[in-house]
Amino acid sequence: MHTLFISDLHLSPEQPATDLFLDFAQHVAPEAEALYILGDLFEYWAGDDDLDEPLHQTVTSALQQLARSGTHVYLMHGNRDLLMDKALEQACEATLLPDPTLIELYGRPLLLTHGDLLCTDDHDYQTWRKQAHDPEFQHQFLAQPLEQRKAFIGELRSRSQQEKRNKPEAIMDVNAEAVAAMLRKHGYPGMIHGHTHRPGHHRHYVDGHECERWVLSDWQRKGDALLCDTRGCRRLSI
Ligand code: MN
Repeated sequence: MHTLFISDLHLSPEQPATDLFLDFAQHVAPEAEALYILGDLFEYWAGDDDLDEPLHQTVTSALQQLARSGTHVYLMHGNRDLLMDKALEQACEATLLPDPTLIELYGRPLLLTHGDLLCTDDHDYQTWRKQAHDPEFQHQFLAQPLEQRKAFIGELRSRSQQEKRNKPEAIMDVNAEAVAAMLRKHGYPGMIHGHTHRPGHHRHYVDGHECERWVLSDWQRKGDALLCDTRGCRRLSI
């Protein structure tokens, strides 16, 4: 009995990880009782009315098949696919989770988050995040035609790539105080997140409590998952 965690696949028609993901969904994930996808499954999500796009069809039907085989599929928003909504959730037969979500796994409390909330040193990003999560902003954005939304997202992506090149590495990582605050707020659980593309296993000492923090990898070069069972968690190369 085990549970799998993945994030940051950034699937898009131009991204070769799709084959890796399909292989994973067919041959690795069905062995797990649950699969948690902690954000940025897609490189972008312009809205649930884009479900018919061929890549989206492929990915959603792979997840649906996985869910029907008996593996519970959980989806969390990343910063790239924060507009994933009910229609996608239904198409995948998955459960969309709020960020963060506290679960109990094999007797241990575990906090799941995409990870961008923890990057508090990146002030520009946090300002944008607040706007992007505002329901009124999302409502107005989704009222635009799909093609217009995709064009806007395309501009945003190239601008963010440029900005990333000029940003110091350190401000794009999590802030230790933000991690401690989130752990404190949720009763000192273990934590799993992605987003930073800096896979790791860290120990935090907060108010006398020792908390483990696992950082998931992106799927740029190869697939990566975290497997957790009653004995603990370990990294799985895909
Ligand atoms: Mn992200």
